[in-house]
Amino acid sequence: MKSIRRIAFVLVVMLTAVSSGTSARQAAAELFTCSMHPHVLETKAGTCSVCAMALTARAMTPVEKELVDFFKAYDAAFLAKDLARLATMYSPETVVYEGSGIDRGWKDYSETHLGPELKSFENLEFGHSNVVPHVLADNAAYVTADYMIKARMAERVLDSGGLATFVLSKDGGAWKIRHTATAARRRPAGGLSPESR
Ligand SMILES: [Zn+2]
Repeated sequence: MKSIRRIAFVLVVMLTAVSSGTSARQAAAELFTCSMHPHVLETKAGTCSVCAMALTARAMTPVEKELVDFFKAYDAAFLAKDLARLATMYSPETVVYEGSGIDRGWKDYSETHLGPELKSFENLEFGHSNVVPHVLADNAAYVTADYMIKARMAERVLDSGGLATFVLSKDGGAWKIRHTATAARRRPAGGLSPESR
């Protein structure tokens, strides 16, 4: 009887090791968090910004995965300059802060800013990384991310990147961007702005 228990114990330990090995390989579907501070979420291993304890990996919840997938689809639509697809990802009431500029509503943003901009981009490179979903409720979340954008335009070369925050709500079963704020980390090459790093 004792030996059967021992074998069962060894089996459980082995299965646990196998399953944690599996999750380590599925790093894309994981977030790193602190056991004491669950609001601390990172996409990479590291230490807690509050208590400096080592962060531990946990699987994303289905809603977190939805939000990460949303931004993969967003990046693909942006790269394809697919304004019709992007329109489905924004709330009509969306408010967009880009640096100190403000666009109020999807109509304003798409017609005076995003639409003309997408048309003018050549050799476009764009994407979000370090996408961290913070779920507030079943139908509310904010997402922080890094962004990068490179493009040739008629009069200048755009080479920028920085931080982005998105506020999203789930309307009619689909996530929509209600608000976004981006802050460029650096200016285009050759810029002499004091914000340059
Ligand atoms: Zn902590």
